Amino acid sequence: MAKLINGNKISGDIKNEIKEEVKELERVKGIKPGLGVILVGEDPASKVYVANKQKGCDEVGFLSDTVKLPETATEAEVLKQIEIYNSRKDIHGFLVQLPLPRQIDKTKVLEAISPLKDVDGFHPINIGKLFAQQDGFVPATPAGIIEMMKREKITIKGKNATMVGHSEIVGKPCALLLLNEWATVTVCHIETRDLKMHTINADILISAVGKPYLIKEDMVKDGAVVIDAGINRITVDKANPELLSWRKSDFDTKGATLIGDVDFQKVEQKASVITPVPGGVGLMTIAMLLKNTLKAAKDFAQLK
Ligand code: NAP
Repeated sequence: MAKLINGNKISGDIKNEIKEEVKELERVKGIKPGLGVILVGEDPASKVYVANKQKGCDEVGFLSDTVKLPETATEAEVLKQIEIYNSRKDIHGFLVQLPLPRQIDKTKVLEAISPLKDVDGFHPINIGKLFAQQDGFVPATPAGIIEMMKREKITIKGKNATMVGHSEIVGKPCALLLLNEWATVTVCHIETRDLKMHTINADILISAVGKPYLIKEDMVKDGAVVIDAGINRITVDKANPELLSWRKSDFDTKGATLIGDVDFQKVEQKASVITPVPGGVGLMTIAMLLKNTLKAAKDFAQLK
Protein backbone atom coordinates (compact mmCIF):
# COMPACT_ATOMS: atom_id res chain seq x y z
CA MET A 1 0.00 0.00 0.00
CA ALA A 2 1.41 3.38 -1.02
CA LYS A 3 2.31 6.08 1.44
CA LEU A 4 -0.07 9.05 1.08
CA ILE A 5 1.43 12.50 0.60
CA ASN A 6 -0.49 14.85 2.86
CA GLY A 7 -0.99 18.08 0.90
CA ASN A 8 -2.82 19.56 3.84
CA LYS A 9 0.16 19.17 6.17
CA ILE A 10 2.77 20.32 3.62
CA SER A 11 0.78 23.37 2.48
CA GLY A 12 0.09 24.20 6.15
CA ASP A 13 3.82 24.06 6.92
CA ILE A 14 4.56 26.36 3.97
CA LYS A 15 1.90 28.85 5.08
CA ASN A 16 3.32 28.86 8.63
CA GLU A 17 6.80 29.57 7.24
CA ILE A 18 5.37 32.41 5.13
CA LYS A 19 3.55 33.83 8.17
CA GLU A 20 6.84 34.04 10.09
CA GLU A 21 8.59 35.73 7.16
CA VAL A 22 5.76 38.24 6.81
CA LYS A 23 6.17 39.26 10.46
CA GLU A 24 9.90 39.74 9.89
CA LEU A 25 9.36 41.71 6.67
CA GLU A 26 6.92 44.01 8.44
CA ARG A 27 9.22 44.43 11.43
CA VAL A 28 12.41 45.10 9.46
CA LYS A 29 11.13 46.87 6.35
CA GLY A 30 7.60 47.92 7.24
CA ILE A 31 6.28 46.02 4.23
CA LYS A 32 3.16 43.85 4.19
CA PRO A 33 3.05 41.67 1.05
CA GLY A 34 0.07 42.48 -1.17
CA LEU A 35 -1.62 40.21 -3.72
CA GLY A 36 -4.02 41.59 -6.33
CA VAL A 37 -6.48 39.55 -8.38
CA ILE A 38 -8.39 40.67 -11.47
CA LEU A 39 -11.52 38.61 -12.04
CA VAL A 40 -13.44 39.11 -15.25
CA GLY A 41 -16.92 37.62 -15.53
CA GLU A 42 -18.94 35.16 -13.50
CA ASP A 43 -17.25 31.77 -14.04
CA PRO A 44 -18.26 29.84 -10.87
CA ALA A 45 -14.98 27.87 -10.60
CA SER A 46 -12.96 31.09 -10.97
CA LYS A 47 -14.99 32.72 -8.20
CA VAL A 48 -14.18 29.81 -5.88
CA TYR A 49 -10.45 30.01 -6.74
CA VAL A 50 -10.40 33.76 -6.12
CA ALA A 51 -12.18 33.38 -2.78
CA ASN A 52 -9.62 30.73 -1.78
CA LYS A 53 -6.75 33.04 -2.75
CA GLN A 54 -8.20 35.79 -0.55
CA LYS A 55 -8.60 33.32 2.31
CA GLY A 56 -4.97 32.24 1.86
CA CYS A 57 -3.84 35.88 2.04
CA ASP A 58 -5.76 36.38 5.30
CA GLU A 59 -4.19 33.26 6.78
CA VAL A 60 -0.61 34.44 6.22
CA GLY A 61 -1.16 38.15 6.91
CA PHE A 62 -1.00 39.53 3.35
CA LEU A 63 -2.97 42.44 2.02
CA SER A 64 -5.40 41.12 -0.60
CA ASP A 65 -7.20 43.15 -3.21
CA THR A 66 -9.67 41.93 -5.83
CA VAL A 67 -10.99 43.85 -8.82
CA LYS A 68 -14.14 42.42 -10.37
CA LEU A 69 -14.97 43.33 -13.94
CA PRO A 70 -18.16 42.31 -15.75
CA GLU A 71 -18.31 39.51 -18.38
CA THR A 72 -18.70 42.28 -20.99
CA ALA A 73 -15.49 44.12 -19.98
CA THR A 74 -13.30 45.22 -22.87
CA GLU A 75 -9.65 44.32 -23.32
CA ALA A 76 -8.78 48.00 -22.76
CA GLU A 77 -10.53 47.93 -19.37
CA VAL A 78 -8.57 44.87 -18.29
CA LEU A 79 -5.29 46.39 -19.53
CA LYS A 80 -6.05 49.60 -17.64
CA GLN A 81 -6.51 47.65 -14.41
CA ILE A 82 -3.23 45.83 -15.06
CA GLU A 83 -1.50 49.19 -15.40
CA ILE A 84 -2.93 50.28 -12.05
CA TYR A 85 -1.62 47.14 -10.33
CA ASN A 86 1.73 47.45 -12.14
CA SER A 87 2.24 50.84 -10.54
CA ARG A 88 0.67 50.32 -7.09
CA LYS A 89 3.35 50.18 -4.38
CA ASP A 90 1.25 48.14 -1.95
CA ILE A 91 0.55 45.35 -4.48
CA HIS A 92 3.72 43.31 -4.93
CA GLY A 93 2.21 40.56 -7.05
CA PHE A 94 -1.02 40.09 -8.97
CA LEU A 95 -2.73 37.82 -11.47
CA VAL A 96 -5.55 37.84 -13.92
CA GLN A 97 -7.80 34.87 -13.23
CA LEU A 98 -8.14 32.60 -16.28
CA PRO A 99 -10.13 31.77 -18.37
CA LEU A 100 -11.00 35.18 -19.81
CA PRO A 101 -14.11 36.01 -21.85
CA ARG A 102 -13.67 35.59 -25.61
CA GLN A 103 -13.35 39.28 -26.50
CA ILE A 104 -10.15 39.54 -24.46
CA ASP A 105 -6.80 38.42 -25.88
CA LYS A 106 -5.13 36.31 -23.18
CA THR A 107 -1.64 36.75 -24.65
CA LYS A 108 -1.90 40.54 -24.63
CA VAL A 109 -3.18 40.50 -21.08
CA LEU A 110 -0.45 38.20 -19.74
CA GLU A 111 2.26 40.21 -21.50
CA ALA A 112 0.99 43.46 -19.96
CA ILE A 113 1.67 42.22 -16.43
CA SER A 114 5.01 43.43 -15.08
CA PRO A 115 7.30 40.35 -14.95
CA LEU A 116 8.35 41.54 -11.48
CA LYS A 117 4.75 41.19 -10.24
CA ASP A 118 3.79 38.14 -12.31
CA VAL A 119 3.20 35.73 -9.42
CA ASP A 120 1.40 33.22 -11.69
CA GLY A 121 4.61 32.95 -13.74
CA PHE A 122 2.78 33.07 -17.09
CA HIS A 123 4.64 36.07 -18.60
CA PRO A 124 7.01 35.00 -21.43
CA ILE A 125 9.93 36.51 -19.49
CA ASN A 126 9.27 34.25 -16.53
CA ILE A 127 8.72 31.25 -18.80
CA GLY A 128 12.10 32.04 -20.39
CA LYS A 129 13.72 32.32 -16.96
CA LEU A 130 12.39 28.91 -16.02
CA PHE A 131 13.80 27.54 -19.29
CA ALA A 132 17.18 29.17 -18.63
CA GLN A 133 17.15 28.27 -14.92
CA GLN A 134 17.28 31.90 -13.85
CA ASP A 135 15.59 33.42 -10.83
CA GLY A 136 11.96 34.27 -11.68
CA PHE A 137 8.41 33.22 -10.91
CA VAL A 138 7.43 29.59 -11.49
CA PRO A 139 3.74 28.67 -11.99
CA ALA A 140 2.27 27.58 -8.66
CA THR A 141 0.91 24.10 -9.41
CA PRO A 142 4.08 22.63 -10.96
CA ALA A 143 6.19 24.42 -8.33
CA GLY A 144 3.94 22.81 -5.70
CA ILE A 145 4.43 19.36 -7.21
CA ILE A 146 8.23 19.63 -7.01
CA GLU A 147 8.10 21.18 -3.53
CA MET A 148 5.92 18.30 -2.31
CA MET A 149 8.36 15.73 -3.63
CA LYS A 150 11.33 17.54 -2.09
CA ARG A 151 9.65 17.82 1.30
CA GLU A 152 8.83 14.09 1.11
CA LYS A 153 12.54 13.48 0.34
CA ILE A 154 11.71 11.81 -2.98
CA THR A 155 14.77 11.55 -5.21
CA ILE A 156 14.17 13.12 -8.62
CA LYS A 157 17.74 13.11 -9.97
CA GLY A 158 18.41 10.22 -12.34
CA LYS A 159 14.80 8.97 -12.27
CA ASN A 160 12.54 8.31 -15.24
CA ALA A 161 9.71 10.83 -14.94
CA THR A 162 6.64 10.80 -17.16
CA MET A 163 4.47 13.91 -17.35
CA VAL A 164 0.99 13.26 -18.74
CA GLY A 165 -0.48 16.54 -20.05
CA HIS A 166 1.43 19.40 -21.68
CA SER A 167 -0.58 22.51 -20.80
CA GLU A 168 1.19 25.82 -20.35
CA ILE A 169 0.12 26.07 -16.73
CA VAL A 170 0.92 22.59 -15.43
CA GLY A 171 2.40 20.00 -17.81
CA LYS A 172 5.07 21.97 -19.69
CA PRO A 173 6.49 23.89 -16.72
CA CYS A 174 6.39 20.72 -14.61
CA ALA A 175 8.35 18.82 -17.29
CA LEU A 176 10.96 21.62 -17.32
CA LEU A 177 11.23 21.61 -13.54
CA LEU A 178 11.77 17.85 -13.55
CA LEU A 179 14.44 18.25 -16.21
CA ASN A 180 16.09 21.02 -14.17
CA GLU A 181 16.18 18.51 -11.29
CA TRP A 182 17.99 16.01 -13.56
CA ALA A 183 15.16 13.57 -14.21
CA THR A 184 14.90 11.88 -17.61
CA VAL A 185 11.59 13.29 -18.73
CA THR A 186 8.91 11.98 -21.10
CA VAL A 187 5.99 14.27 -21.91
CA CYS A 188 2.67 12.78 -23.10
CA HIS A 189 -0.31 14.53 -24.64
CA ILE A 190 -3.47 13.93 -26.62
CA GLU A 191 -1.51 12.70 -29.66
CA THR A 192 0.57 10.21 -27.68
CA ARG A 193 -0.13 6.88 -29.40
CA ASP A 194 0.45 4.43 -26.57
CA LEU A 195 0.23 6.13 -23.21
CA LYS A 196 0.93 2.95 -21.24
CA MET A 197 4.23 2.42 -23.05
CA HIS A 198 5.40 5.74 -21.56
CA THR A 199 3.89 5.42 -18.08
CA ILE A 200 4.85 1.84 -17.23
CA ASN A 201 8.58 2.61 -16.93
CA ALA A 202 8.12 5.83 -14.97
CA ASP A 203 9.67 5.97 -11.52
CA ILE A 204 7.77 9.23 -11.12
CA LEU A 205 4.40 9.49 -12.87
CA ILE A 206 2.57 12.83 -12.87
CA SER A 207 -0.84 13.36 -14.43
CA ALA A 208 -2.39 16.77 -15.17
CA VAL A 209 -5.10 16.08 -17.72
CA GLY A 210 -8.58 16.29 -16.24
CA LYS A 211 -9.79 12.80 -17.26
CA PRO A 212 -11.00 10.49 -14.50
CA TYR A 213 -9.55 6.94 -14.52
CA LEU A 214 -7.02 7.85 -17.26
CA ILE A 215 -4.19 6.27 -15.25
CA LYS A 216 -5.02 2.67 -14.50
CA GLU A 217 -3.22 0.15 -12.35
CA ASP A 218 -1.70 -1.74 -15.32
CA MET A 219 -0.07 1.50 -16.55
CA VAL A 220 1.90 2.04 -13.33
CA LYS A 221 5.30 0.58 -12.44
CA ASP A 222 5.55 -1.28 -9.12
CA GLY A 223 6.79 1.12 -6.46
CA ALA A 224 6.31 4.26 -8.59
CA VAL A 225 5.75 7.73 -7.15
CA VAL A 226 2.34 8.83 -8.46
CA ILE A 227 1.37 12.50 -8.38
CA ASP A 228 -2.18 13.32 -9.44
CA ALA A 229 -2.84 16.96 -10.35
CA GLY A 230 -6.12 16.24 -12.13
CA ILE A 231 -9.35 17.54 -10.65
CA ASN A 232 -12.60 16.02 -11.87
CA ARG A 233 -16.00 16.68 -10.35
CA ILE A 234 -18.20 13.59 -10.59
CA THR A 235 -21.91 13.97 -9.94
CA VAL A 236 -23.92 11.15 -8.42
CA ASP A 237 -25.55 10.26 -11.78
CA LYS A 238 -22.12 9.77 -13.42
CA ALA A 239 -20.47 7.76 -10.63
CA ASN A 240 -19.75 4.03 -10.91
CA PRO A 241 -20.83 1.71 -8.06
CA GLU A 242 -17.30 1.58 -6.61
CA LEU A 243 -17.06 5.37 -6.42
CA LEU A 244 -20.59 5.63 -5.03
CA SER A 245 -19.62 3.45 -2.10
CA TRP A 246 -16.10 4.92 -1.59
CA ARG A 247 -17.35 8.52 -1.55
CA LYS A 248 -20.81 7.81 -0.14
CA SER A 249 -20.72 10.71 2.32
CA ASP A 250 -19.80 13.24 -0.42
CA PHE A 251 -22.64 12.02 -2.62
CA ASP A 252 -25.08 12.03 0.30
CA THR A 253 -24.19 15.56 1.38
CA LYS A 254 -23.13 17.32 -1.86
CA GLY A 255 -24.41 15.09 -4.65
CA ALA A 256 -20.90 15.05 -6.15
CA THR A 257 -17.28 14.27 -5.34
CA LEU A 258 -13.81 15.26 -6.60
CA ILE A 259 -11.39 12.70 -8.02
CA GLY A 260 -8.13 12.95 -9.94
CA ASP A 261 -6.93 11.33 -13.18
CA VAL A 262 -5.63 8.25 -11.37
CA ASP A 263 -7.70 5.18 -10.50
CA PHE A 264 -6.66 5.81 -6.91
CA GLN A 265 -8.02 2.77 -5.08
CA LYS A 266 -6.26 0.33 -7.40
CA VAL A 267 -3.09 2.33 -8.07
CA GLU A 268 -2.42 2.96 -4.37
CA GLN A 269 -1.84 -0.78 -4.02
CA LYS A 270 0.97 -0.65 -6.58
CA ALA A 271 2.65 2.72 -6.01
CA SER A 272 5.15 3.46 -3.24
CA VAL A 273 3.89 7.02 -2.76
CA ILE A 274 0.71 8.68 -4.03
CA THR A 275 -1.15 11.99 -3.71
CA PRO A 276 -4.88 11.89 -2.96
CA VAL A 277 -7.54 14.07 -4.62
CA PRO A 278 -8.69 16.09 -2.81
CA GLY A 279 -5.99 16.71 -0.21
CA GLY A 280 -2.93 16.52 -2.45
CA VAL A 281 -1.59 18.80 -5.18
CA GLY A 282 -4.62 21.12 -5.14
CA LEU A 283 -3.73 22.50 -1.72
CA MET A 284 -0.16 23.21 -2.80
CA THR A 285 -1.19 25.64 -5.53
CA ILE A 286 -2.35 28.43 -3.22
CA ALA A 287 0.55 27.89 -0.83
CA MET A 288 2.99 28.32 -3.74
CA LEU A 289 1.14 31.38 -5.07
CA LEU A 290 1.52 32.94 -1.61
CA LYS A 291 5.19 31.97 -1.64
CA ASN A 292 5.60 33.71 -5.01
CA THR A 293 3.90 36.83 -3.62
CA LEU A 294 6.23 36.83 -0.62
CA LYS A 295 9.17 36.58 -3.03
CA ALA A 296 7.81 39.55 -5.00
CA ALA A 297 7.53 41.60 -1.80
CA LYS A 298 11.04 40.60 -0.69
CA ASP A 299 12.43 41.44 -4.13
CA PHE A 300 10.66 44.79 -3.83
CA ALA A 301 12.26 45.35 -0.46
CA GLN A 302 15.57 44.13 -1.90
CA LEU A 303 15.83 41.76 1.01
CA LYS A 304 16.33 38.54 -0.97
P1 NAP B 1 -5.60 21.53 -19.97
O1 NAP B 1 -5.05 22.82 -20.38
O2 NAP B 1 -6.92 21.04 -20.45
O3 NAP B 1 -4.50 20.42 -20.31
C1 NAP B 1 -4.77 19.05 -20.29
C2 NAP B 1 -3.61 18.35 -20.98
O4 NAP B 1 -3.87 16.95 -21.05
C3 NAP B 1 -3.41 18.81 -22.41
O5 NAP B 1 -2.03 18.96 -22.60
C4 NAP B 1 -3.98 17.68 -23.25
O6 NAP B 1 -3.35 17.55 -24.50
C5 NAP B 1 -3.64 16.50 -22.38
N1 NAP B 1 -4.48 15.35 -22.65
C6 NAP B 1 -5.80 15.30 -22.88
N2 NAP B 1 -6.21 14.03 -23.04
C7 NAP B 1 -5.12 13.25 -22.92
C8 NAP B 1 -4.90 11.87 -22.99
N3 NAP B 1 -5.88 11.01 -23.21
N4 NAP B 1 -3.64 11.41 -22.83
C9 NAP B 1 -2.62 12.25 -22.59
N5 NAP B 1 -2.77 13.59 -22.50
C10 NAP B 1 -4.01 14.09 -22.66
O7 NAP B 1 -5.70 21.44 -18.40
P2 NAP B 1 -4.73 21.99 -17.22
O8 NAP B 1 -5.08 23.39 -16.94
O9 NAP B 1 -3.31 21.61 -17.44
O10 NAP B 1 -5.31 21.11 -16.05
C11 NAP B 1 -5.19 19.71 -16.07
C12 NAP B 1 -5.88 19.14 -14.87
O11 NAP B 1 -5.24 19.63 -13.72
C13 NAP B 1 -7.35 19.53 -14.74
O12 NAP B 1 -8.07 18.49 -14.15
C14 NAP B 1 -7.31 20.71 -13.81
O13 NAP B 1 -8.51 20.86 -13.08
C15 NAP B 1 -6.17 20.31 -12.92
N6 NAP B 1 -5.47 21.45 -12.32
C16 NAP B 1 -5.25 21.36 -11.00
C17 NAP B 1 -4.62 22.40 -10.38
C18 NAP B 1 -4.38 22.27 -8.92
O14 NAP B 1 -4.29 23.24 -8.24
N7 NAP B 1 -4.24 21.06 -8.45
C19 NAP B 1 -4.22 23.53 -11.07
C20 NAP B 1 -4.42 23.57 -12.42
C21 NAP B 1 -5.06 22.52 -13.04
P3 NAP B 1 -3.76 18.53 -25.73
O15 NAP B 1 -3.46 19.92 -25.29
O16 NAP B 1 -2.86 18.09 -26.82
O17 NAP B 1 -5.22 18.31 -25.95
